[in-house]
Amino acid sequence: MMLKNGVKRVLVKFSGEALSLDHGVESVCANISSTMLTKIATDVKNVRNVGVDVCIVVGGGNIYRGVTGMKEHGIDRATSDYMGMLATVINALALQSTFEKEGISCRVMSAVSMPTIGEPYIRRKALRHMEHGRVVIFAAGTGNPFFTTDTAAALRAAEMGCDLLLKATKVDGVYTSDPEVHADAKHVPSIAYDQVISRDLKVMDTASIALMRENNIPIAVYSIYEENGLHAVLNGQGKFTYIAEQGLKSGDY
Ligand code: UDP
Repeated sequence: MMLKNGVKRVLVKFSGEALSLDHGVESVCANISSTMLTKIATDVKNVRNVGVDVCIVVGGGNIYRGVTGMKEHGIDRATSDYMGMLATVINALALQSTFEKEGISCRVMSAVSMPTIGEPYIRRKALRHMEHGRVVIFAAGTGNPFFTTDTAAALRAAEMGCDLLLKATKVDGVYTSDPEVHADAKHVPSIAYDQVISRDLKVMDTASIALMRENNIPIAVYSIYEENGLHAVLNGQGKFTYIAEQGLKSGDY
């Protein structure tokens, strides 16, 4: 099956929260839901099955955030950020195990070297894994404190030569205001990088948007809860927001 827009390689950014359960009674461990793990694995499998190369950056916000740890526990920022990076490794291992159970060949590569549990990140090795059809899960963000996993997602998308960065969130794209607060908030189907930055829309941090603009890699923001959402977005179906130089042009999808 051909994808409408000819996308061949994508990076999907799953926030830590995407791994937790918003509603429901499921017992969770480390704020990781097995329902969400399986859902992510199924979505990834469905796009791998149509020949799209997939790599992943996973966040750690369901377990620990550097800034919050600093504010609440008085831990110095850099140390607290390393704790956040370790949280992303926990999520990456959970994804790896679930992917393998679902028959998806994958590797965890960590920006902070911990070779007993995952490969250290080496760009050329990651590219080789992708050429062999393996899903690469990038853990530990950029490996640097004071950064976020959004920036890590943009960085790895550029390094891997991705055609598209997909950001899986709890909402199905960008709105004119917070849809949970304002009933009249309108969904924005497409928007330019510059507008996301100048309006300070909190969809991804500014550094990651700027990096995508510089490398001309579009971003699609979609809902993690959407049934087979990843595949739908790649076919231009369902609800999502497309961020690019000009926003969405007719013919892009
Ligand atoms: N982090 C970091 N450098 C990076 C990526 C992440 O220091 O390159 C730390 C930071 O403390 C952050 C935490 O890891 O709060 C978890 O990442 P993030 O908040 O981006 O996760 P998400 O919000 O996507 O779940």
